[in-house]
Amino acid sequence: MTNSPPTLMTNSKQLHAILKSTFGYDTFRSDQEEIIQHVLNRKDALVIMPTGGGKSLCYQIPALASKGLTLVVSPLIALMNDQVINLEQTGVAAASLHSNLTPVESMEVERKLNAGELKLLYMSPERINNEATQNYLRTLDINLIAIDEAHCVSVWGNDFRPDYVELARLRPIFPEAAFVALTATADQTTQDDICKQLKLVEPRVFLSSFERKNITTHAHPSLKRLDKIASILREYTEECGIVYCLSRKDTEKVSTKLNMMGLNTKFYHAGLDAESRYRVQREFQNDEIKIIVATIAFGMGIDKPNIRFVIHYNMPKNLEAYYQEIGRAGRDGKESVAHMFASWGDFIMLKRFIDDGDGKQEFKAVQLAKLERMWEYASTSDCRTNSVLSYFGEYKKENCGHCDNCLNPPIKKDGTIPTQKILSAIWRSNQSIGMELLIDVLRGSQKQEIRDRGLDGIKTFGVGRETSRLVWKDYIIQLLNKGIISINYSQGSTLKWTPLSTPALKGEKKIQLAEFVPTEKKVKAPQRQKREVNVDNSLLGRLKAWRLEQARHRSVPAYVILSNKSIEEISSSKPTDNMELLDISGIGNAKLNLYGEAILEIVQEFI
Ligand code: ADP
Ligand code: ZN
Repeated sequence: MTNSPPTLMTNSKQLHAILKSTFGYDTFRSDQEEIIQHVLNRKDALVIMPTGGGKSLCYQIPALASKGLTLVVSPLIALMNDQVINLEQTGVAAASLHSNLTPVESMEVERKLNAGELKLLYMSPERINNEATQNYLRTLDINLIAIDEAHCVSVWGNDFRPDYVELARLRPIFPEAAFVALTATADQTTQDDICKQLKLVEPRVFLSSFERKNITTHAHPSLKRLDKIASILREYTEECGIVYCLSRKDTEKVSTKLNMMGLNTKFYHAGLDAESRYRVQREFQNDEIKIIVATIAFGMGIDKPNIRFVIHYNMPKNLEAYYQEIGRAGRDGKESVAHMFASWGDFIMLKRFIDDGDGKQEFKAVQLAKLERMWEYASTSDCRTNSVLSYFGEYKKENCGHCDNCLNPPIKKDGTIPTQKILSAIWRSNQSIGMELLIDVLRGSQKQEIRDRGLDGIKTFGVGRETSRLVWKDYIIQLLNKGIISINYSQGSTLKWTPLSTPALKGEKKIQLAEFVPTEKKVKAPQRQKREVNVDNSLLGRLKAWRLEQARHRSVPAYVILSNKSIEEISSSKPTDNMELLDISGIGNAKLNLYGEAILEIVQEFI
């Protein structure tokens, strides 16, 4: 890559000036400034930052600080629209080209592009890969290409999209431009693959910490999960959140049942007609409906900062998906929670999806390994945050202090005897039975299948009558996680011995097991942060109502007008002039011009 002429402005002071005047923020987060400087020097980068970390500014500020155009590749129209609306509100000239535009709208965007009036252009990979589009793009002064959701380029990632792979063709077409790939979900293999697939030139990898300190994570067995979920939701009556289910049918069922329990929820899935989907999404974004029960179709493109809880009714298919979904909580940095309910049944069902899906065997093996990691996470009795961080290649010595296992450490006790009973029963049944049947053997069940298979004749039959099914299940899962036993999925999920089994059976190694804790004890809702005491609630209410009016009037989500953080700050500091308004986080010049007068008028009523 040749060295291009220096960009217009790269010094830190000027970057801070843009941050303040356009976006209304005082300081850069974590690596943001370094990434921006790097990109402005026309060098390639891979940026890995958790959801809500602030990836967008890493290419939006370079776009504003340099001449010419920044091209942003984005996988979804909803995402593009969201970004463009947000940028327009902050006074930035941005537009998108996609198939939902009318010919007139498209022509208007092209006119602006030809006139050099736009700083950012959003496009889908499909559109960019079109030959004619590429020829057109060559005629524009493109200095930076940002590829959002870059994990889509890798088959090792979570949402592989073949069209992303074709994007590699852009690199030689724009030799002078910097390429920056951004993603929130990429394990080590995927990270390497993104750089390779996109043909990035000597990319620097910026890996921000994935730890979301403001999210408290919990995992529970799924027994009586509906009741547990209802009790969590009752703790959050004034706040917004999402309940994720695996199937469309479940979203409807769970939503209906929760409503029957006196809660107010709506469901959302890809099977609803476009209008209903749009309506539910809008109502949620405007805080009109607080709880959405949805499949994962709900989320991409939802950039709502004040989501306080994310609940998983089922275990997700892998840790990337899980982490991305819980990452929608607490984007405003405030205390939030994630509760996941996971059962062995979920595991088996997800495994069946993989088995029955199409795709190469190699691909299925990767998916299964990821599912197993997910299950380990769900059933670990160690720090959950560290378990997920290590998956993304981040290793921490200290425990997190904001997961259930850290907050409420499980009590460990000597589990040698139950371990020996389990191992012995597996052995004596010729390693041919699955978890449920093993528990039947241990508890001396009189089931027909037991008698038919002669399992009531083995020596371990009934040695564990005094222990409940739930506790046995819990122990077996712990032993699976410790590698003392294993499961053969290709043989009807039967339990097998491993090289660690013999020493455990002989008692050569003491086995510590976490004591079983019933779900009721685990689901205590955490203490939530109290609102700042000096917030003037009546002013806050008035501002929220005004914001909703504005949002409806302009057909944009409420948080695009002003974030909750901004209006809370206004309520407590009661600004009386433009200068004071500019001190509010999230208010830059454009928002001052648009809304300053109206806000000051409302505040006056309360002084
Ligand atoms: P993501 O990494 O998920 O793309 P975004 O770029 O959407 O995250 O940023 C998440 C939120 O954080 C947005 O509301 C954004 O305006 C805000 N944000 C980003 N950078 C900063 C900053 N330096 N100071 C304050 N807020 C910021
Ligand atoms: Zn922890």
